Amino acid sequence: MKNYPAEPYRIKVVEVPNILTRQERVEAMKEAGYNTFLLKSEDCYIDFLTDSGTNAMSDRQWAGMMIGDEAYAGSRNWFHFESVVKDTFGFKHVLPTHQGRGAENILSTLLIKPGDYVPGNMYFTTTRYHQEANGATFKDIIIDEAHDPEIDLPFKGNIDLNKLQAVIDEVGADKIPYVCLAVTVNLAGGQPVSMANMRQVRELCDKHGIKVFYDATRYAENAYFIKTREEGYADKTIKAIIKEMFSYADGATMSGKKDGIVNMGGFLAMNDDDMYTRSREMVVVFEGMPSYGGMSGRDMEAFAIGITESCRFEYIQHRVEQVAYLGDKLIAAGVPVVKPIGGHGVFLDARAFLPHLEQEQLPAQTLAAHLYIESGVRSMERGVVSAGRDKITGENHKPKLETVRLTIPRRVYTYAHMDVCAEAIIELYKNRSSIRGLKFVYEPPMLRFFNAKFDYCD
Ligand SMILES: *Cc1c(COP(=O)(O)O)cnc(C)c1O
Repeated sequence: MKNYPAEPYRIKVVEVPNILTRQERVEAMKEAGYNTFLLKSEDCYIDFLTDSGTNAMSDRQWAGMMIGDEAYAGSRNWFHFESVVKDTFGFKHVLPTHQGRGAENILSTLLIKPGDYVPGNMYFTTTRYHQEANGATFKDIIIDEAHDPEIDLPFKGNIDLNKLQAVIDEVGADKIPYVCLAVTVNLAGGQPVSMANMRQVRELCDKHGIKVFYDATRYAENAYFIKTREEGYADKTIKAIIKEMFSYADGATMSGKKDGIVNMGGFLAMNDDDMYTRSREMVVVFEGMPSYGGMSGRDMEAFAIGITESCRFEYIQHRVEQVAYLGDKLIAAGVPVVKPIGGHGVFLDARAFLPHLEQEQLPAQTLAAHLYIESGVRSMERGVVSAGRDKITGENHKPKLETVRLTIPRRVYTYAHMDVCAEAIIELYKNRSSIRGLKFVYEPPMLRFFNAKFDYCD
């Protein structure tokens, strides 16, 4: 039996959740149109919908909120935040944004021309939306193995350099404003990218004069995987690894709601002076002054402290290993999950879990709804519903990975909560053949998974 590290924190404040009866959950799920996004948080005993903005802040972060300087311009918390971001990631310029997508909007608008292509290691919903909204076509250049839930590789988020070269040969480097490299890859199951791969992507892009922007969202989890899996990094600090990772990028978009260990916030960072000037002009229009960008002073203070805490080895070790604990339990019981277990969550392989359902019958959506009904655990669909429709043909994108994501908030739950969740899934797996598929009854035109409603197929 592997050793899982005990919680590297003590609990000072607790939140007491509601625990509904099964019948109450059946009704709540029906009312929400079988979409876990539309459930009330109050009706969820364990909320694994997302690790985004659901983090528990430390006493130091809360103390930091008390020294928020809410001046309209030049807040002292901005200067603290800016210095921590520069020191941690090594970029020359930083602009605050209200969350990650604010940074994506500015990056995509500034760099993309209609007809361009943006290669990336698998798509992310908001990231691809902004790329496409600005006229680009997204090109998936992640290694093939990332699309196979069964293949166990240490760095399943890596970019396939041959695929990148093929896109360059096909469309020409001048049609590629930047390569988008995500650490870790959310939709592949929280899979990391190796340092060697980042270095090679940089070299190839340098040869063709192409920029590289990282989606930095889960930088600390990725750094932990490099430290524990990649040769030559075992003795390096998490902070040194992060510094090296980002030394291969021209800039990054960041959602503080993940590894920043806060509830709201983000930034856009870059080295280029001219791009910085143009980004500043856009921040004022879309986010706020370049010294707050949609965050309050207290938010920036908590974010700065959160970034510092995220680089502590004990913190990130427990974070990643707690997620592995849940995954290891499910694997031991024979439940199909995406392997290896990623940094921020466990992804159930819904097609293998519900083999009697066609992808059109939305297996992952169905499984997420049933997990809630059985246990009060809220999870999220990451499959055909999230993938949306092709903007030209109108057909459903049909991703090979049809998953239910159990995303673990940082520092919120204990190993005993993981046990409750694992036991419910194992029970559901035993009774899986009785589960019927779902169909859309309301389908929004954009980012449909957030607000769609469903009902059982006949
Ligand atoms: C959450 C997320 C984003 C968007 O960030 P928001 O803060 O939610 O706007 C972008 N990329 C990845 C990989 C994410 O997980």
